[in-house]
Amino acid sequence: MCKALDLYDRKEFYRCLQCAICTGSCPAARVVEGYNPREFILRYILNGEQDEVLKNDIIWFCTTCQACRERCPHEINVTGLLTHITNLAARRGNLPDSLREQIGLLLETGWSIQATSRADGIRKELGLKPLKRPDASEISQILREAGLDKILDKK
Ligand code: SF4
Ligand code: SF4
Repeated sequence: MCKALDLYDRKEFYRCLQCAICTGSCPAARVVEGYNPREFILRYILNGEQDEVLKNDIIWFCTTCQACRERCPHEINVTGLLTHITNLAARRGNLPDSLREQIGLLLETGWSIQATSRADGIRKELGLKPLKRPDASEISQILREAGLDKILDKK
């Protein structure tokens, strides 16, 4: 059983009024055609279309900004559901290449965005110290024990 399932209470979604305030508040829905958090609730929780939703690339446009959760009249944890969905999708191999690359970099260097020598050069010009590189081996071990490397193997 995926631990992501423990992050939210599925029963709370049965109280959903389908009022669409979550979708109306969602910044991703404004700019991404077809992105609709209310529809995820309807399809994933109420219609039982979990497999179809998990295969859909569009789920990755959620920024986890929490606007939907804050504005829901029933205080339903829509962001928690979206986090659950993306966690589970990643475990099934639906993970965007950009995130895949970032995770790989994180495992290798301890940073999801690597500090470049150019950045160090600019910092030097500004009288700042070079950025301290983290202990990648320790970070990598934690991430591997959490199973992140196995997620990268799935495609
Ligand atoms: S705002 Fe809340 S009640 Fe309305 S559709 Fe979204 S989750 Fe359901
Ligand atoms: S958390 Fe995701 S679904 Fe909710 S408003 Fe933000 S981008 Fe939209």
